[in-house]
Order: sequence, then C-alpha cells, then structure tokens
Amino acid sequence: MKTQDITEVKALLSAPKKIVIVPHRNPDGDAIGSTLGLMHYLKHYNHDVTVVAPNDYPHFLKWIPGESTIVKFDTQRKTSEELIKNADILFTLDFNALHRTGHDMGDFLKHSDALKIMIDHHQAPDDYAKYMYSDVTMSSTCEMVYNFIEMLGDANKISADIATCIYVGIMTDTGSFRFSSTTNRTHQVIASLIEKGANNTEIYNQVYDTNSINRLQLLGRALQNLKVVPEYNTAYITLSQAELDEFNFKKGDTEAVVDYALSVKNTILAAIFIENTQEGIIKISLRSKGDFSVNELSRNYFNGGGHTNAAGGRSESSLDDTVEKFITILPQYKSLLT
Ligand code: 5GP
Ligand code: MN
Repeated sequence: MKTQDITEVKALLSAPKKIVIVPHRNPDGDAIGSTLGLMHYLKHYNHDVTVVAPNDYPHFLKWIPGESTIVKFDTQRKTSEELIKNADILFTLDFNALHRTGHDMGDFLKHSDALKIMIDHHQAPDDYAKYMYSDVTMSSTCEMVYNFIEMLGDANKISADIATCIYVGIMTDTGSFRFSSTTNRTHQVIASLIEKGANNTEIYNQVYDTNSINRLQLLGRALQNLKVVPEYNTAYITLSQAELDEFNFKKGDTEAVVDYALSVKNTILAAIFIENTQEGIIKISLRSKGDFSVNELSRNYFNGGGHTNAAGGRSESSLDDTVEKFITILPQYKSLLT
C-alpha cells in the first residue's frame, strides 16, 4: 500500500465508523482468520464492526475468537443487507472480484455506496476498491492484515485474540508453513504472533485434529479413487455425490484431500473433482508444483482462478465428462508437465 493511502486510511479510521468486513464464499481459514483479526483490531478504535460472510464455513473454524458474531448473508439476508446498506466502510478480504462472494451478494456489494478497501493476495484483482492492498507474493491475507496493522503503526495493539485469528490463516494458507509462499518474513510474523499470545499447538489441534470417523473414511474412499496419468505427471481424485452421502459429508470434509494427489511422486499437477448435485456443479480444486500455473488452467477451462500453485473452479457437465475434459486438455500443457 502506498504511504499516501496509508495516511488517508489512518485518517479515515480515526473517528468511529460503521464497518462491514466481507470474506469470499465458502470461507476458509485465511478468510475467516483475516476478517475476524481485522474486526478485533478495528474494535480498538470503537468502530461498529461486523463480519458478514456469504455463507457457512467448516466446523474446524468454529472456535476462532469472535466467530459467533459472524452474520451470514445466505441465511441472515435481512440483517446482512441492512448492515451493508448502512456501512460507511466495506473491507473485502481474501478475494479479488465481488462475484467471489456469490452472485446475489456480489450484486448487492456492487451497488453499495460504502468506501471499499481490498486486502488480498490473489492474481488479477478487479478494480472496485478505493484503496487496494493487493500483493500476490503474500502467503496469506492474514499476513497482509498483520502488515496492514503494522503500517498503521499499531503492531503494539495486536492482542492474543488478533494474533490467534491471524495465525490460523497463515497456517492454513501455507499448508502449515511449507508452501513456497512461506518466506522468512512469514516466520517473523508467526514468531511475533506467538509472542503476542497465539498458542500454536492449540491452534493446530483445533484446526487439524478434530476429524470425524466419517471424514477419515471419506478420505479413504477418495484415496481409493486416486488416478495417475504418468505421461503428464498428473494425479486426480473424484468424489461423487453418492460417495459424499455415504459418509455423511459435512462442509470442510474434503479440504486438503487434493494434497494427497499432489504428493504422488513426480506429480506436477493434481486435481480433485467433487460432485454437488444440489448446485448442479462439479467443484474442482487444482494444485501444482513449480511454475505450472493452475490459476491459468482454471481461468481458461473451468471458470475459476486463484494462485499459481492453488486454484479452484467449476464445471456444469457431469463428473465423468468433467474428468474427460481435464484429461483431454493435458496434451496442450505437455511441455510444461513433462
Ligand atoms: P480451493 O481449491 O481450496 O477451493 O481454492 C484454492 C484457491 O483458489 C483459493 O485461493 C481460492 O480462493 C481460489 N478459488 C477457489 N475456487 C475459485 C473460483 O471458483 N474462482 C476463483 N477465481 N478462485 C477460486
Ligand atoms: Mn487466502
């Protein structure tokens, strides 16, 4: 963020305002951690702050400090619309285009008169915000919230609650500090968060060690469905709606399952295709190693996007047809995959 922008934002936040903070649809650890971390920070200045999420999020995030105050646009439509309508300032966190909050909410946000501030690390951000802190080299939006607070000269205001929220998103978006987006600076931020009261062991347990037997058995099925296309160093997993039903699928149960496909020796490109009959779509998660851009692949073929090594998308064809399409496009990427 430019120094001039920081000065202006600081002035803007110097008197109490009505503020709404929005994460993307199907919020993950980084989306929930960053919005709640920012919420706690802004409350120091007596702003009236609410996080309005497009929809629900997994149970393993339902302990983060302040989580119970989150308003959900899909099930609490009236309250959400009132909050957005009355907001002076709208922060949008961890996404790059308003439609990432869903069709209805995206439309509603587009027509809001509130001053918009974006904090995000995705590629190719849309130009809707008055102030944009967009940096694709960042590990996570949470790391950016830390930087944002620091740029405002308030690192000393980071409480144990703020530190806990921010720690969650850095941990989940970096695959527990192992992805290439993890820098020495990321570790310095993490060190400072622990110093300020984030309990690293406890946070890890809350997020990763709360599996149900159903979730683990669904993982077992996913691993049985794993297929490898050795000539293109590609591996993929499918899960049909029937399989999800068999193991009483709950939101979040398939999180990170695609990482097992990427862990197959020599794999450069990995995918998981998950059928959702209610929405009539196949949800696709893509992961890669090195320079291969799944963001580009997803933008070109699966109506999605994301980062170079982690992206998502969707298809309205059947599960079989979607997988077939995926396999048919691999030859075009031969030089990058072999
Ligand atoms: P995941 O595969 O975990 O759902 O998402 C991986 C990354 O891609 C995340 O950074 C997420 O924000 C982004 N992403 C997931 N789905 C979509 C999508 O439909 N459109 C876009 N533009 N990005 C997505
Ligand atoms: Mn993120």
